[in-house]
Amino acid sequence: MKTVIKFEKHELTIIRVRRSQTVTVFCAVCREKVLHLSVTRASAALGVSETAVFRLVESGTVHSMETASGALFVCGNSVSVLAKQVGSENL
Ligand SMILES: [Zn+2]
Repeated sequence: MKTVIKFEKHELTIIRVRRSQTVTVFCAVCREKVLHLSVTRASAALGVSETAVFRLVESGTVHSMETASGALFVCGNSVSVLAKQVGSENL
């Protein structure tokens, strides 16, 4: 019984780690398969808070998609374009 519970916990951890990384999926705006970043990764790449990333998503500044599990991923193309702007403006 205890072993089963531990095993399930381990599985969950693996899935969570995988989901927190990147995923290559079709971006409806770019119209091509693009590497998408988790919100955590995008915030690190842009040097802004995760809240700021959500605001950028809401305003349409960065493209985003939601996985079936409800995790939000942002389009790497739009993030890299924005990262160049942020580099000079220091948003
Ligand atoms: Zn895109």
